[in-house]
Amino acid sequence: MIATDSVAVPRRVNLLGMPAVELEAFMVGLGEKPYRARQLLKWIYHQGVDSFDSMSDVGKSLRERLADCAEIRAPEVAQEQISADGTRKWLVRVTGGSCVETVFIPEDGRGTLCVSSQVGCALDCSFCSTGKQGFQRDLSAAEIIGQVWIAARSFGLPKKGGQRRITNVVMMGMGEPLLNFDNVVAAMNLMMDDYVYGISKRRVTLSTAGVVPALERLAAVSEASLAISLHAPNDELRSQLVPVNRRYPIRELLDAARRYLQAQSDTKRVVTIEYTLLSEVNDRPEHARELARLLADYPCKINLIPFNPFPHSGYRRPGRNAVSRFWNILTEAGLRVTVRSTRGEDIDAACGQLVGQVQDRTRRSERHRAATRQHPSVTADASSRP
Ligand code: SF4
Repeated sequence: MIATDSVAVPRRVNLLGMPAVELEAFMVGLGEKPYRARQLLKWIYHQGVDSFDSMSDVGKSLRERLADCAEIRAPEVAQEQISADGTRKWLVRVTGGSCVETVFIPEDGRGTLCVSSQVGCALDCSFCSTGKQGFQRDLSAAEIIGQVWIAARSFGLPKKGGQRRITNVVMMGMGEPLLNFDNVVAAMNLMMDDYVYGISKRRVTLSTAGVVPALERLAAVSEASLAISLHAPNDELRSQLVPVNRRYPIRELLDAARRYLQAQSDTKRVVTIEYTLLSEVNDRPEHARELARLLADYPCKINLIPFNPFPHSGYRRPGRNAVSRFWNILTEAGLRVTVRSTRGEDIDAACGQLVGQVQDRTRRSERHRAATRQHPSVTADASSRP
């Protein structure tokens, strides 16, 4: 066997995902003026470059020094799919080989990017395909903002005065964002920075299943909008669907979300309540009435999401009538309600269908596969589309 000398290769710092103040300190550490950081941010995010050579207004010697000690390293695109309805999905390979999914949903006048925060998810909500994949690890800030970078770059530079394709970002992809607090906050703050993507704080939304202690800390470091994955009008049912509810019940969660809103300078904001409708589980009139009572006088709007089936989920999508009955009861109670239309179903990009490729450390995916083999008749019924 040939012995090789081990040579210490100096690790280069990844500038993608670095908070703006840290980047400023980094440039000052190189003996440069702080404004250099803003120059770099514009190149990295506005222009989508990943090489210092392309930065034409940065002197050659600084470009060379940067190339020696730093890099701009985004995650790799393993696959890109485009749905018949224009929805796009990227399978993004992150360090270690696992993949997460990022979805772009174009609509009239806006484009929403749904971004993942973790490889898999530890929370195991019973109706969520990501939860069935188990959990591997948190994504870094570079891997989170990198998903926006990949999507923005794929659309090319916006024409002068033209509208940006990505107008909204929702942290609603794979993972529970509040369990990856620091990296998610760093990435969201970058999204809102004018030298990065300059997306308004109302249009960057963090969606949580309800990790209350982390939510209590959020207002001190973020101005993002907030969505709660509620999915049930009472603790008994919610604990079955969203197990984290056993630790942080509905009342505690709603109170913490209200405090988050109260801490914001913009007093007109409301919480978005996400409610996945599962046929004969949480979509009956009594559930709607209980939800209306729960949310009476609560500053919110409700987003109803008819369940998107995935193999062996054990749940069915409610029919059109059940969805409109539910909507009617809430609307008549004076609540603001929308029904999310299903997008990207042909490429498995619809809400709740994201699976990625997770190297599961929890063995949950193995258990789910075993349970599926034992009960092969439990399949999702896609025929009840509203
Ligand atoms: S719904 Fe969200 S929090 Fe629940 S398992 Fe899925 S990704 Fe995790």
